[in-house]
Amino acid sequence: MKTIGLLGGMSWESTAHYYQAINEGIKSRLGGLHSAKISLFSVDFQPIERLQHQGDWSACADILTTHAKGIAASGADCLLICTNTMHKVAPEVEEHLSIPLIHIADATAQVLQRDGIRKVALLGTRFTMEEGFYKDRIQDNFGIEVIVPHSDDQTVVHDIIYQELCQGEIKSQSKDAYLAIIHSLYERGAEAVILGCTEIGLLVQQEDTLVKLYDTTLIHAQAAIEFALQSDDG
Ligand code: GLU
Repeated sequence: MKTIGLLGGMSWESTAHYYQAINEGIKSRLGGLHSAKISLFSVDFQPIERLQHQGDWSACADILTTHAKGIAASGADCLLICTNTMHKVAPEVEEHLSIPLIHIADATAQVLQRDGIRKVALLGTRFTMEEGFYKDRIQDNFGIEVIVPHSDDQTVVHDIIYQELCQGEIKSQSKDAYLAIIHSLYERGAEAVILGCTEIGLLVQQEDTLVKLYDTTLIHAQAAIEFALQSDDG
């Protein structure tokens, strides 16, 4: 089994979910007392969140690159950056990395493509919804149309992520707000919705709606499991 490198802490609430999902996946595939080989570095999120909101992405890239190199040096065979938003700096991190980076948008788009989805809605932080680094990658490389909520709804989605979910607060009125936004995206023609922030799955799950949801935390974790279990020659 290969060792999975996790760069987490953004937030730790969702990294805990990754850790659990990867271990559960390995156990269900291998049985017995098997568990995942994981090398995890978990950052202090507060200074990173400040840099994000100040727009200092090159400082964010430097921090993540330093820790990614440390994870590689610790013996990991691949790297997952355990947040959608920070994939904004994934190209800079990848440039300095000697091990493969499993990109969360690619892993998600591959599943969408397999399921024949042609038009999808994206929920995430404002950075992820507004900027091109995520949705253009899916549109340009996989031919899937990506729509996002209208501006007011983006604010609601963004604020709930940072003010509640990243702080471990799960509120029923926030869940209702998300479900209403998911429904409006469906009415705009989205065949499915990407939960494109690693905390959203803590608030909304598939059983809450008839609209098909794609939880990026679970998809990313599954991609890591497949990587870890693939044989060295294949
Ligand atoms: N975990 C979140 C994401 O998947 C947001 C926190 C962050 O800004 O990294 O985008």
